[in-house]
Amino acid sequence: LRIGVPLETTPGEKRVATVPDVVAKLIKLGFSVSVQSSAGDAANCDDDSYRAVGAEVVDSAEALWAGSDIVFKVRPPSMDEVALMREGGLLIGFVWPAQNPELMQALQAKKATVLAIDALPRQLSRAQKMDALTSQAGVSGYRAVIEAANAFGRFFNGQITAAGKVPPAKVFIAGAGVAGLAAIGTAANLGAIVRANDTRAEVADQVVSLGGEFVKVDYEEEGSGGGGYAKVMSEGFQAAQRQMYAEQVKDADIVITTALIPGKPAPKLITAEMVKTMRPGSVIVDMAAEQGGNCELTVPGEAAVRHGVTIIGYTDLASRLAKQSSTLYATNLLRLTEDLCKAKDGTVDVNFDDQAIRGLTVIKDGELTWPAPPIQMP
Ligand code: NAD
Repeated sequence: LRIGVPLETTPGEKRVATVPDVVAKLIKLGFSVSVQSSAGDAANCDDDSYRAVGAEVVDSAEALWAGSDIVFKVRPPSMDEVALMREGGLLIGFVWPAQNPELMQALQAKKATVLAIDALPRQLSRAQKMDALTSQAGVSGYRAVIEAANAFGRFFNGQITAAGKVPPAKVFIAGAGVAGLAAIGTAANLGAIVRANDTRAEVADQVVSLGGEFVKVDYEEEGSGGGGYAKVMSEGFQAAQRQMYAEQVKDADIVITTALIPGKPAPKLITAEMVKTMRPGSVIVDMAAEQGGNCELTVPGEAAVRHGVTIIGYTDLASRLAKQSSTLYATNLLRLTEDLCKAKDGTVDVNFDDQAIRGLTVIKDGELTWPAPPIQMP
């Protein structure tokens, strides 16, 4: 079968769904690979680098979609792209079925089979190798710190020099999931003093192992909801948390917020009043901007200065490190393809006995198969 990789059409998206090193491995699995011309340019993979490993480079999106049995994408396809898709084709990429009902209908009408990488059952340890939510959140967490460092007027690390003593920057991180932990590690490596909080107390050890200090809310309440994810906390907890955050934010030079609750708007953790207490030149990076933001003053997609504080609400942090995020994403899709093609003969078997494959198959031959039944843990 032929795998096709189109140029991403979402404005500003720089990632590409596969990279030349991975193309070579897909060809070894028995597939042919087509790449739309310039699809990898923004991720530093030019057409020649794909040709060099045996991919065919095609000129137009029309030719790419029409000639591909399987399409690898990063962002969910647009309606125009679905129109180009082959009837009965296989699509693999981010889909977000709950947020995109019209897209799901259009894909069903195409009799497509759709593997939504965002629907992967992440609790399965053997699914970790294909967990693109984790790989992309890790890149985003790193990039959030780099954006903060770029907007901040001082060093992160403390220094004693002939020109004077420089104190280390103080970084406070709200939410220590995949992105938050990546941000903690990056900020600590740059030499900052890092503190972090999460409603799930179980992450405290991970925060410490990455060089941070875990700050607890003085209120007893279990923060884990289903599947290792967070839940909405009680009013009492939220009040205690706001008090603690007011103290931490006032003392911080940099605040990075990553708190999300699946299926709910992002919790508002940083109020306008808290921003006013920060020193001029401080920076907030709100990684929850796309889900409404953890800070009251965040403008999604923008960086703005409010009360002397730069508030960054970029929603494309992974795309801003396109070579790295594309390489990790391509490897996630390769691992999935290996499991779909056990025979290494360039065909795919969407095998529902495999819980990982079952979980991420949201449409099979035009039939809606989402949401998948709950995972049976041994
Ligand atoms: P996420 O992006 O949904 O949320 C980010 C973090 O925000 C979470 O740690 C959450 O607890 C925290 N949060 C939510 N509300 C908060 C609040 N009011 N105050 C402070 N923090 C708040 O989460 P994620 O990074 O995608 O990961 C969520 C969980 O899934 C983690 O436990 C992660 O380890 C787990 N996970 C497990 C596997 C696996 O088992 N194989 C793989 C990937 C992720």
